[in-house]
Amino acid sequence: MAMTLSRRALLPLLLAPLAAPTLARAASPLRVVASFSILADMTATIGGDAISIATLVPVDGDAHVWQPRPADLKTLHAADMLVENGLGLEGWIGRMAQAAEFRGARVTASRAVKPRTMTEDGRRITDPHAWQDPRNGVLYTQAIADGLVRAAPAQAEAIRARASAYAAEIAATDSWIAEQFAPIPPAKRRIITSHDAFGYYAARYGITMQGVQGISTEGEPSARDIAKLIAQIKATGIRAVFVENMTDPRIATTVAREAGAVVGGQVFSDALSPPDGPAGTYLKMLRHNTTLFVGAMKG
Ligand SMILES: [Zn+2]
Repeated sequence: MAMTLSRRALLPLLLAPLAAPTLARAASPLRVVASFSILADMTATIGGDAISIATLVPVDGDAHVWQPRPADLKTLHAADMLVENGLGLEGWIGRMAQAAEFRGARVTASRAVKPRTMTEDGRRITDPHAWQDPRNGVLYTQAIADGLVRAAPAQAEAIRARASAYAAEIAATDSWIAEQFAPIPPAKRRIITSHDAFGYYAARYGITMQGVQGISTEGEPSARDIAKLIAQIKATGIRAVFVENMTDPRIATTVAREAGAVVGGQVFSDALSPPDGPAGTYLKMLRHNTTLFVGAMKG
């Protein structure tokens, strides 16, 4: 026992020479893992060359039901920092961090967000899709910048500068979106999407939105839910139903057909497109979705 203790005590001394080239260490970028593609884009934009970024749930992937592979555990194990959304989006992340023996810092991007809650099947649940309101995107930016500065204080000035430029871009995008909806009468601001991912967006721009599936993509809607939704679409004269990049489009497509509506196109809710697609960044995603929604409302 005594021997184990003294060996432990010696360990830092033995390791010290290995860690000696401090300058080289300081210059190597912080290894950051983001839970899903939207956070990866934000974090990469704010971190710049101070970080290297890896993403767990890939582009077009579904963060609600994703499962890590052994390679993902390795990636997380080697990371200095994990950026996650929080608000219950990544139900798998606690177990994963434990399984990966992750020892780095954890940053919850939604830290300062006022969460939206809703009732689903008689249960009160928190809506995790806060990034769809760009004003929350600004809060995410601050939380991520704070986390990066804590982990890489030598880079603080550059990180803060990038974060404030990015926050300004997000705010400008928010104004642009509000301008797009401004000419549309409130009664026409109605949208149906595959799942309930646009609650924050809808609240921000005065839109009534409903998902064919609920807040999560786990579980399928019942035949009764679907019949109700079809009747609702017919009664309210909603013209378009939108499919999402990361969910199965079949149910939404069926609903649209049965209700005499059209499929208004593919919007991006919980994941970006590949870089060369229509929603390769968070800001492009916001603009792309808005363009499709506004187009459908104008008919
Ligand atoms: Zn979702």
